[in-house]
Amino acid sequence: LATAAIQIIRSEDEHVARNYHPLPVVLARGEGVWVTDVEGKRYLDLLSAYSALNFGHRHPSLVAAATEQLGRITLTSRAFHNDQLGAFATALAELCGKQLVLPMNTGAEAVETAIKTARAWGYRVKGIPADAATIVVAHGNFHGRTTTVIGFSDDPDARDDFGPFAPGFAAVPFGDAAAIEAAIDENTAAVLIEPIQGEAGVIVPPEGYLRAVREICTKHDVLMIADEIQSGLGRAGTTFACDREDVVPDMYVLGKALGGGIVPLSAVVADEDVLGVIRPGEHGSTFGGNPLAAAVGLRVVEMLASGEVQVRAQALGEHLEAKLAELVGHGVTAIRVAGVWAGIDIDPAVGTGREVAERLLARGVLVKDTQGQTIRIAPPLVIRATELDWAVEQLKVVLAG
Ligand code: PLP
Repeated sequence: LATAAIQIIRSEDEHVARNYHPLPVVLARGEGVWVTDVEGKRYLDLLSAYSALNFGHRHPSLVAAATEQLGRITLTSRAFHNDQLGAFATALAELCGKQLVLPMNTGAEAVETAIKTARAWGYRVKGIPADAATIVVAHGNFHGRTTTVIGFSDDPDARDDFGPFAPGFAAVPFGDAAAIEAAIDENTAAVLIEPIQGEAGVIVPPEGYLRAVREICTKHDVLMIADEIQSGLGRAGTTFACDREDVVPDMYVLGKALGGGIVPLSAVVADEDVLGVIRPGEHGSTFGGNPLAAAVGLRVVEMLASGEVQVRAQALGEHLEAKLAELVGHGVTAIRVAGVWAGIDIDPAVGTGREVAERLLARGVLVKDTQGQTIRIAPPLVIRATELDWAVEQLKVVLAG
């Protein structure tokens, strides 16, 4: 690393809390699927900020929407109306086939919003006795970093020394619909799952799981909440990962790419009979629904509305899967692919996920390890097949040592 980069990293080390362990690269610019570091070296971005950059860095249309809005008004708070939120909510509700949108900022906040909504629905609509509502979740989940949410994680790094935790959650194995049904009782308000588990390593549940969860939730009068923060908005080759099984949950939880990689923007989307339970004063956020985020979010939704992005992601995903399948047995023990999204389990003989990520970095490819032995590929959906092929070539070289 050049002195400039070393100095920048040192200033971070000295004054930024050590809650991340970044790869040693200092990014200064981004365009489309490419980023450039402070020394001018280019890298192909195969992480997309954990799927927040589904449209790539600085997509011209999204930058235009943001710039235009920056020249008008950026923040009003919801003490007043602004002229952007209604259009954004209308478009997002339509994309989801739902009636209401509750805008927040980060993913974790949207998950918290979904939990509050499900509990309020449980008491006010379903008639669950006060403070008795439970929510069924899945082992291996990742729904964010707030204290309630980490309370039902089973990752020791997420939990240890951060308790005590909120009661009211029951965890069952992911991919096992019968286990969900067995965990449901008369006080169950909701089932909260990622349709495909992202942080767990792109874990795709068995075919039929989402449909079965939908049927069980309907049968027992329990809300199905799909955390599509990472899996949604084109990533899995469909608008939502739930679409892969033609399933419509009662609540969508969205974030990441909703803000176009420009602003934090998340939302809970549901019908009136569910989200309508929240009354004025019961929930909110200073920045939630701000006009800058709404203007960008509207453009994001417009870009997804035609379905072209999803069709392209589906085709690219099939291409990616075929390429990655060739690596299995050659430094890779397993792959899981859904749309332009892959979990690649690295043979321990080659090294750890982190080591592979570091070697890929040296070859101009950015990826992030997860769960020790897995690297995740989630490039911007605007990536070309030739660029993907080049990245897989680099991986092949790294795996060959
Ligand atoms: N839910 C899922 C499925 C996620 O993947 C993430 C982030 O990785 C979150 C929630 C939390 O989102 P945020 O980091 O914006 O709070």
